[in-house]
Formats: sequence, structure tokens, C-alpha cells
Amino acid sequence: MSDRRDFLKKSGLLGLASIATNLIGQEKIEKAEQALSALGENAFTLPKLNYRFDELEPHIDAKTMEIHYTKHHQGYIDKLNAIKSTNIDYLSSDEVKCTHIDRFTQAAIRNNLGGHYNHTLFWSLLKPNPKSEINIPKAKLTEAIIKEFKSVDEFKNQFSETALKIFGSGWCWLVLQNSKLKIVTTANQDNPLMKIDEATQFEAVAKPILALDVWEHAYYLKHQNKRKDYINAWWNVVNWDEAEKRFNGY
Ligand code: MN
Repeated sequence: MSDRRDFLKKSGLLGLASIATNLIGQEKIEKAEQALSALGENAFTLPKLNYRFDELEPHIDAKTMEIHYTKHHQGYIDKLNAIKSTNIDYLSSDEVKCTHIDRFTQAAIRNNLGGHYNHTLFWSLLKPNPKSEINIPKAKLTEAIIKEFKSVDEFKNQFSETALKIFGSGWCWLVLQNSKLKIVTTANQDNPLMKIDEATQFEAVAKPILALDVWEHAYYLKHQNKRKDYINAWWNVVNWDEAEKRFNGY
């Protein structure tokens, strides 16, 4: 007798547990839907830039900046806002949303959320340097870079070489992973926050400190096929204050 009664008791409890889980799930979905409808079509929006399009000259030209920001980045945002079936938690930050992405995630979400997050980060890590003054990392980040790569110059060489070798479209990153600085790359609009170990061979989710977009749209107008010139120019406008802030924040 007891087997059957046991079974009924257990399945009854399981049933209750699953109703409870569904209620919590339902409440979460309703909250997310409310937040979404409050935001309307603009759940995702372009971030404000801290500089004008022409202020990164002569290193990054105004036309490239304008097209990159108003067409490419806006394009990812428009596509993201058009996805209604997303299972990404709208209530979390874009950074947290990226950590929810894995190889089973719908490609449109992976590509466009990645595109939005990566570009938002990229813009924040740029700053004007019209007089081409020496631009080097700050305080604690410098120490960590020297510890890991021997010198700032050696780090810059390794980063540049890695970015140069990316085949096709992608990104080069300085990341903090297991308390260690590393240079890694991702294809397309993937980023190191995503759980896509198979593709990127990451041991664990890594936190981005620096981000370099090596898609041709980031440099073709000014540099055509010369990605190396673009990378060299980019070092002049790296916002090391922001990188330092990110490094200290992790
Ligand atoms: Mn881009």
C-alpha cells in the first residue's frame, strides 16, 4: 500500500511545488511585461555620448562615428526592440542580460543584444585626444597590466597583434577572468560575458575592461583595408579613466 500512497503523496507535493513555481514565474513574467509596456518600443535606446562625432578626430573620423552610432548601433537596437518573444529578463541590466546568453539563445537576441552592449561599452571607452597626447593606463590597472604582460608596451603589442589577427568581424577584449587580466577575442557581436565557452574557449565568464570593435564598418571609410592603422589610431583615444573604473569595480 505504502508505495502507492507514497507516490500519491510525493506527486501531490510535487504538484503543489510546481504550482508555486509557476506562480512565481507568472509574477515575474507579469512584472517584466509591465516594465516592457511602460518602456513601449524603446526598451533599448542609444546611450548618450560624452563627445561629439568630430571630437575623436584626427584618430577616429566624424563620418565613421556618425554612421557607426546612428546606423549600426541604432540598427542593433531597432532589431532588439522588435523581438517580442525574447526570454531575456528585461528587468536586469544589459550586462546581466549578456550573461544569460548561451549557444541555445535565439540568434537574433545573441547578435543584437551583443551588438547593443558591445557598442555601448565601446563608446564609453573612448575619449577625445585632439593633440595626440601620450595616452596610457592609470594607477591600479597599470600595475596589473605590468604584472601580467611585463610592460604597458608589451601589452599594447600583444593586444594589437591579437586584434589584427581576428578573421572577419569581431572584437578584441582585455578582460578580468579569475582575477587575471587576459586578452581574448570574440566573433561577430559575441562578448566575453556570454556563456559560449565552446566558441570562445573561455574557462568562465570574463569581465570586459577594454573593448575594440574590429568590424570593417569601424574603420573602412578612413583606413579601408588597413586595420593596423585603425588599431594604432584607437590607442590614442582609449578612455583609460573608464577602463580603470571598470577594473576597480570588479
Ligand atoms: Mn561596430
